Amino acid sequence: MTIEYQIRVLPEVAADSDKIKRYLLEEKGVEGINAIRILKRSIDARQRTIFVNLTVRTYINEQPEELAYTPVQYQDVSDKPQVVVVGAGPGGLFAALRLIELGLRPIVIERGKDVHQRKLDIANISRNQTVDDESNYSFGEGGAGAYSDGKLYTRSKKRGNVEKILNVFCQHGASTDILVDAHPHIGTDKLPGVIENMRNTILRCGGEVHFQTRMDAIIIRQNKVVGIHTQTGEEFRGPVILATGHSARDVYGWLYANGVEIEAKGIAVGVRLEHPAHRIDQIQYHRGEGRGKYLPAAEYSFVTQVRGRGVYSFCMCPGGIVVPAATGPEQIVVNGMSPSHRNTAWSNSGMVVELRPEDIDDLDDTPLKMMRYQADLERLCWMQGNYKQTAPAQRMADFVNGRLGSSLPESSYAPGLMPSPLHFWMPEIIADRLRDGFRHFGKQSHGFLTNEAIVIGVETRTSAPVRILRNNDSLQHVRVQGLFPCGEGAGYAGGIVSAAIDGERCAEACLQYLDN
Ligand SMILES: Cc1cc2nc3c(=O)[nH]c(=O)nc-3n(C[C@H](O)[C@H](O)[C@H](O)COP(=O)(O)OP(=O)(O)OC[C@H]3O[C@@H](n4cnc5c(N)ncnc54)[C@H](O)[C@@H]3O)c2cc1C
Repeated sequence: MTIEYQIRVLPEVAADSDKIKRYLLEEKGVEGINAIRILKRSIDARQRTIFVNLTVRTYINEQPEELAYTPVQYQDVSDKPQVVVVGAGPGGLFAALRLIELGLRPIVIERGKDVHQRKLDIANISRNQTVDDESNYSFGEGGAGAYSDGKLYTRSKKRGNVEKILNVFCQHGASTDILVDAHPHIGTDKLPGVIENMRNTILRCGGEVHFQTRMDAIIIRQNKVVGIHTQTGEEFRGPVILATGHSARDVYGWLYANGVEIEAKGIAVGVRLEHPAHRIDQIQYHRGEGRGKYLPAAEYSFVTQVRGRGVYSFCMCPGGIVVPAATGPEQIVVNGMSPSHRNTAWSNSGMVVELRPEDIDDLDDTPLKMMRYQADLERLCWMQGNYKQTAPAQRMADFVNGRLGSSLPESSYAPGLMPSPLHFWMPEIIADRLRDGFRHFGKQSHGFLTNEAIVIGVETRTSAPVRILRNNDSLQHVRVQGLFPCGEGAGYAGGIVSAAIDGERCAEACLQYLDN
């Protein structure tokens, strides 16, 4: 027999299944429990005493099912019609896996290296201050999601779709904790193995994966896709799922130059804010000792409006590090990631200001104007950072009060920091709103606005600066048949899970297209 219980227990009880069983016996009178499985877990830190809410399934005189997730059956598709998937980020990988489920053969084209080789290029950014423009934090197997916090929460309301994605992650080696936690995450140390397993599923089922192969052109005849050309001189034929992410500026440039309809899209830009993790734990858990032994590094989320534009925290990485996420020369771009245990000495988040196309004056009012704005800001930041990957930074309260301090506290950002008056050189439209936003957040959360924290420039790659126009029903480009703009780069997703969901949807749309 199995019975489910909702319980509210102290963190030390939630961390130990024997203690949970004892609690169920003593508080609920449940006897004869063979095993328990935690189905849902969330932390309630609103009051001084912190509780963990659990949904627990008890197995009484019965053993739990072998798998805590529902596996997908992947079939052999070696002799099935092929579909070209450009980009091996979450959008492309989940599109490829879904194509296999549906009986189609994915040919995955990826400009970067495989997820393990990519690690060396990422290390070189800090070691030698060099960015390989084909293999970096955004380009390579796993896409921008590979070396990340691997946060898997999304604002998507369609729970079924989200659960499917989480199940596929588990089937490929992610901890089943992601099915349980209210705010699941995988961690940058675990993600590469999961991504490699996904690639192996694609290959085992008869799909192909081509690394260091960059799509340079889409072959379009009479408004219909024939395939793609790559820099290796090869041609791959079939309908195209275009999942190239928000950093493939050459792809946007090609689409614009070749008359494939795109439009400028709003973005959010700002800084990475880094606090000592202990300070965030103290604030969020309302206690001097911080998180203690049984609680994870604390998260936060802030949002406000300043003069008609949103100012908010983005991609918070508790117990994480700030990383250099540029994809080419003369750029500084910062982002954040965390290991699975979220146990570094720092907690960071993007702190960004919403910008709409009408906010930016551009002499060429083209669909690429927001992309150009991003690129200009990244270049300005690179100049402030001494023409290297050294990032310009300022203490948080100094930034808010318009003061330049010369010292900076220790930071997780490996390429190094350079003291810099961000309040002075960042465009007013961003810096002024950020400063007001920080004042507001400091009032909401005592101790948050502090000179122990630093702002690091600049966070620009929060979403795509361009939307590739597609039909809402067929998911095909509005004019070019057989072209499926997909994931974050196309402007239809933001984050790992939503890109993965969009990848699955594009695969389904592709099947419909081929069936007609
Ligand atoms: C450091 C960092 C941390 C992040 N942390 C999180 C997080 O914790 N949680 C979260 O939800 N999101 C996070 N994100 C955002 C998340 O990674 C993206 O939203 C997601 O990866 C988008 O998926 P995608 O498949 O649409 O595009 P991408 O992941 O960007 O993948 C696009 C792929 O296409 C390839 N490509 C580009 N152009 C070409 C071409 N011409 N030919 C062939 N291949 C090409 C690229 O190399 C890349 O592999 C993070 C991003 C970064 C950079």
